[in-house]
Amino acid sequence: MKGVQNMRDFGFEFNNSYTELPKIFYTKQNPTPVNLPKLVVMNYTLARELGLNADALADEAGIDILAGNAIPSGAKPIAKAYGGHQFGHFTMLGDGRNILLGEQITPKGERIDIELKGSGRTPYSRGGDGRAALGPMLREYIISEAMAGLGIPTTRSLAVVTTGEKVVRDEYLQGAILTRTALSHIRVGTFQFAAAWGTIDDVKALADYTIDRLFKNVNKCENKYVHLLNEVIKGQANLIARWQLVGFVHGVMNTDNMTISGETIDYGPCAFMDNYDPATVFSSIDNHGRYAYGNQPNIGGWNLARFAETLLPLLDDNQEKAIEIAKGAISNYYKVFEDAWYSGMRKKLGLFNSEEKDKYLIEGLLSIMKKYKADYTNTFMALTKEKIEDTGLIGIEDFDLWLNLRSERLERQGKSKEEVTSLMRENNPAVIPRNHRVEEALTAAVTEGDFGVMDRLLEVLKRPYAYTKEQEEYALVPELQGRYRTFCGT
Ligand code: AMP
Ligand code: MG
Repeated sequence: MKGVQNMRDFGFEFNNSYTELPKIFYTKQNPTPVNLPKLVVMNYTLARELGLNADALADEAGIDILAGNAIPSGAKPIAKAYGGHQFGHFTMLGDGRNILLGEQITPKGERIDIELKGSGRTPYSRGGDGRAALGPMLREYIISEAMAGLGIPTTRSLAVVTTGEKVVRDEYLQGAILTRTALSHIRVGTFQFAAAWGTIDDVKALADYTIDRLFKNVNKCENKYVHLLNEVIKGQANLIARWQLVGFVHGVMNTDNMTISGETIDYGPCAFMDNYDPATVFSSIDNHGRYAYGNQPNIGGWNLARFAETLLPLLDDNQEKAIEIAKGAISNYYKVFEDAWYSGMRKKLGLFNSEEKDKYLIEGLLSIMKKYKADYTNTFMALTKEKIEDTGLIGIEDFDLWLNLRSERLERQGKSKEEVTSLMRENNPAVIPRNHRVEEALTAAVTEGDFGVMDRLLEVLKRPYAYTKEQEEYALVPELQGRYRTFCGT
């Protein structure tokens, strides 16, 4: 491990609050140095937002920090404890290959976690090597930045370095470390850990910390823990509605992969749906479709029920009353989700106001899309561009009928054509990270060391609602070549 770096050079302004939680929540842990670190991707825009000096980070001393070979001064590296339901089964987990370097205070005064992913073993590694392979780390970089471009809350990717070391999976792969940032890495699983292995005081300490850090206005509420529960539910309901609206399939919605901050986290087997089908599953290990596209809202509710359980002793002294409060909060999740989803769908169709029968208009289109295997993103894009012929649905009687209903509906709202188009453009991406494009970028980077393909893809994904000429080729869907499969990012 090299000496501590002068934090001013890099712009680090650490203030580490997590280490003030009770000791069971973390273990002090330095990253394990690597052989020959090399920077392969740097997010200059994000660095600037964080108040970091990207040029300094891209230099030798900076790369040492991103590789875990040097610790910047002010950092307090820790691995965090958490538990989680993985495919329904509860286990002890924790940062098995992540290290939180510290919390950066940005120029705007925000507090942002800076973590290394793939930085070596920790006490929570169980059988794992604590490492990550280049492909999956680049994949996380691409998809998380695409989500940010879409305006969907997410952890961000600051940089990727290769380690000069091999990781052993089914084959030997290049090792890599991703620098990930987040409003906070507190997970539903962190609360489950406290409830299962800590005391009520530990749960309370975590809840108080979370409120102070993420939900400051909740502090003023009468029962702040009930409000915490409601806020987390609201955040997740809105987040999952956003996923559904863009056709994002997370793939591994275990409770340890659900943040309390409402940010999307853990880009393992995730992918975007092509043709509309609620049964869409990409993950090679999700045999029963537990985390299929159409199941995501229900799984969100299930996960939040697990979160609510951890808070029961804080919700009310009377256990029965506490359970009633929790049940009420969870049923509200489905309502908030529905409202967010319908409101988003209306916007996708260019509707400014709401009418009772909109439900049928929305569901009518989706059922046609499902029946005729229409591409989810491109159907909405075609409607936005008023290139109905591009939907591939023309001539289908149900669709013609649907178009008439929609025209009548648009007329009734009395908005101009321009207003409708601009609302639709803001809500229907012209480009998503198409699976074949992501694969193409990863193959060039990993097998040929050519990062140009990925850079171009990232550029296009930055402004998905721009409808530029360059985006057009990225919107093309290849002929279906069998089912796309993703693998967990280990
Ligand atoms: P994930 O599937 O990424 O959500 O990870 C589930 C759990 O496995 C977490 O506790 C991770 O830290 C841990 N984990 C995943 N990959 C590794 C690895 N290569 N070495 C150690 N722990 C790992
Ligand atoms: Mg995870």
